[in-house]
Formats: sequence, C-alpha cells, structure tokens
Amino acid sequence: MMRARDHQASPMSAVPFTNLTLRSELQSSIAIQGYESMTPVQEQTLPHLLNGKDLIAQAKTGSGKTAAFAIALLNKLDAQLYCTQALVLCPTRELADQVASEIRRLASNIPNIKLLTLYGGKAMGPQLASLRRDPHIVVGTPGRILKHIEKETLHLDKVQTLVLDEADRMLDMGFHDDIMKIISQTASSRQTLLFSATYPEAIKQISDKVQGDPVDIRVEASHHSPDIEQVFYQIENSKREEALYKVIAHYRPESTLVFCNTKQQCQELANEFRQHDLHALALHGDLEQFERDQVLTQFSGKSSSILIATDVAARGLDVKELAAVINYELSHDPEVHIHRIGRTARAGSKGLAVSLFTDSERRRLEAIEQYQGSPATLVSVSTLKIPEKLKLYPPMVTIFVNAGRKEKLRPGDLLGALTASGEIAGEQIGKITLFDKVAYVAVEQKMAKQALTMLADGKIKGRNYRARLLR
Ligand code: ADP
Ligand code: MG
Repeated sequence: MMRARDHQASPMSAVPFTNLTLRSELQSSIAIQGYESMTPVQEQTLPHLLNGKDLIAQAKTGSGKTAAFAIALLNKLDAQLYCTQALVLCPTRELADQVASEIRRLASNIPNIKLLTLYGGKAMGPQLASLRRDPHIVVGTPGRILKHIEKETLHLDKVQTLVLDEADRMLDMGFHDDIMKIISQTASSRQTLLFSATYPEAIKQISDKVQGDPVDIRVEASHHSPDIEQVFYQIENSKREEALYKVIAHYRPESTLVFCNTKQQCQELANEFRQHDLHALALHGDLEQFERDQVLTQFSGKSSSILIATDVAARGLDVKELAAVINYELSHDPEVHIHRIGRTARAGSKGLAVSLFTDSERRRLEAIEQYQGSPATLVSVSTLKIPEKLKLYPPMVTIFVNAGRKEKLRPGDLLGALTASGEIAGEQIGKITLFDKVAYVAVEQKMAKQALTMLADGKIKGRNYRARLLR
C-alpha cells in the first residue's frame, strides 16, 4: 500500500486545478464553482484518481471529498454510452442529495448527462420510470439500490467508478451486507473509491475485500488547531447535567453542538433544557426524516442555539460557524474526539471545545492527550460563572408552512407575503427553506406573532395555507 500522510498543504502552496489534465468542460465548471485551488484532500487524491487507481481516503467533514470523486468519475464518463458508469453509495437521503447536487454542478458543462438519485422513503414508481433508460450516474442509499438490483431495474455491470462515501457511517448503520451484495453486481474492472471521515478497523476490512492495491490517503485533522480553545472539566457523574448547563450559561455560545454517546441521553437532555428556558433540540437516529429536516432547519436558521446529537446523527451536518462543541462525555475513540471538536472553528473563525469527564473516563482523556500530542487544559467547574436569571433564547424562530416546491412555492413568495404590509422588514427575515411539501421561514423572535398571522391568515401566492410556530 502506498501511503501519503500529513501532507497538509498550506494556503501558500495551494495548487490550482489547472495543474490537472482534465476535460475542458470540467475545468470550466470548476472555475464557475469558484474553486480556485485544490483542498489538501483533493490535491493528494486527484492525481491517483485520474490515474484510475483504487483509493481509500480519510479526511474530516467539510474537506472537499465530494468534488474529488465527482471530478474523477466525470472525467472518464462517456455521455454517448447509455449505461450506468458511476455509482455512489451514501448513508442517508440527505447526503445523497448533497452529493448529487455537487456532481450536477460539476457536470453542468458536459451535455446530456443523466444522473439519478435512488433512496428509500420515495415511491418506486417514478424511480422505475426514470430507470427505463439507464442513467450515467446513480447516487443513492444501499437499501433502495439493492431493491432495484433485485427487481432488475438497475444494471451495474458497466460501472467503471464505484464510490463508497461516508463509508464508516454506512458500516455504523449496518449496511455492510447490502454494500457487499451491490458490489458483487459491478464489473470487476471497476475503480473502487472509499471515502471516510474516520478509519476504524471495519473500513480496512471492507477495503481488503473490494479494492485492489489501493492508494491510502489520510489528511489528518490538525492535532493542534490554534483556532480551537480546548478545555476539559472534571466532574462527578451525578453532576454531569448540571455541569453542562453551567458551561453553556458561562460561555453562552451563539451556537453549540453537544455530543452525547447515546440517543436516550440526547432526548433527555433536550427535554430537560427546555424546562429550564434553554432552547435545545435533539438529533439522533430515532427521528423520522421529516423531523430531522425540521431540527436541522431550525438549528441552521438560528432558531435554536443548542443541538444535542450523537456522532452518527451529526455526520454530514453542514452547519457553518459553529461557536462551540461540547462533549457531554468523552468519546472512547480519540480520533472521534478530534473529529468532533474540529467541527468548530471552521473557515478561520475561532472555536471553543469543552469536554466533561469523570474519574472513570481518565483513560479516555489520556488517550486523547496522547493522540493530540499535548496535555489537556483542565479547568475547575468552580470557575464557571452563571448569571442569576438565565434565559438563553435564540435570535430567530422558525415558522412551518404546509406547502412547498410541489405547490410551486419559491422563497420570494414567502418573503413577499411577509413584507407586503410593511410591518416586517426584509432584514427581519432569515433563512427560508423549501422542501417538496413543506416550507420553513426563520423570522426574528419579536416578529414571530405578526409573521405567523400573516402566513396563517393571509394568502401566500393567492392561496391559504396552514402555518405554525416551531418551538
Ligand atoms: P466532505 O465530503 O469532505 O465533508 P464536501 O465535499 O461536502 O466535504 O465539501 C465541503 C464544502 O467545500 C462544499 O460546500 C464544497 O462546495 C466546498 N469545496 C469543495 N472543494 C472546494 C475547493 N477546491 N475550493 C473551495 N471550496 C470547495
Ligand atoms: Mg462528504
């Protein structure tokens, strides 16, 4: 196995995409995206990817892995051949949608490319209709793709590029057997690419089974990120919840992602916090897809400042400007710890990472110190200052509307309905998110009632819809 470790490119040495030999349609769409130079993982993987090598790449969330494999698969795609040439497996519907849209953007200058997303929770009928002519590229989740293989509606024998994206998470979710069945349907001459944020033993095992002499690229999460202030508080187990409350009250981060090790903890903590006038939302694997969409929309629309999540649920979460990450409990795996805290301080901003641990978690603390190569900064809980009466409300509140893209609603329609009377100014309206059947609008807290009245009692695009505040 070849191995390239720790070749983190500094901004000074950034390599432009024009250094790569790519078809011209791709060069131009990369330029349209505004991608000037390659990210470290792109710089390290693309030369091998374009050489047709199998590859396993590990780099943290947000490092640009999607464009790396998207460019590789698009560069060798032949739009004249009507067969499925590339297959990307993703753990969730959301990630499949994100990957598909990045591939579509990068493919926008190559004429006649057909890309299809296939995941569960949608009717098979329309998918079957779309499959009547083989798409060039399929992006989807293992369960639904396997169903189509079994129905013989999807043909993978001409697949030249197979990508397992977020492979570690797919394995966590129990997709191992489905993945192996899917891979057995693909041509053995294919190029197999494995992308992952962490590198557990299970990844190595699957690589051994499905890849041929892969290039191994690991862009390590920086061990000493100067932009992250990392502190540890030793607590007693019975005081864990109280300590978390104190940490939030003391630092009052604008947005916080709290990591728990279990689903139950997430939900219990969120409920408890709400009783103490702290607006918190739980994100874990037991939520229905629409609940998950709703939680993420509220959090990214600044309508909740605290998101309490498990590692699996937080993966792929694309929230920019996370002010703080709090570990309610230390992770068993130091690599996961570094990955968690790397979610704050993105894009050059400063971040805060706070971890709570008990005496029985000492081993985990030592493992983290060893992994990051520096001692932990321990602080006493007694230094945390709590304001007398604490109410931490988020700046915005989200309104739910029971109409979406299917009703041909556009963000401008909602903006128009809210600002028409002049009572609410455009600046008081935040993020507007549309789904197929529902829409969400974030508005300033103090405008919540007026905004709700306008959307619930007034007309949107000439029609009446239901609306309610999400608290
Ligand atoms: P990952 O899969 O590694 O978690 P993504 O592929 O989702 O990360 O990329 C994160 C973000 O970075 C996306 O918004 C993407 O458009 C952007 N991005 C990717 N490559 C580049 C680049 N070379 N220059 C600037 N932005 C990029
Ligand atoms: Mg990704």
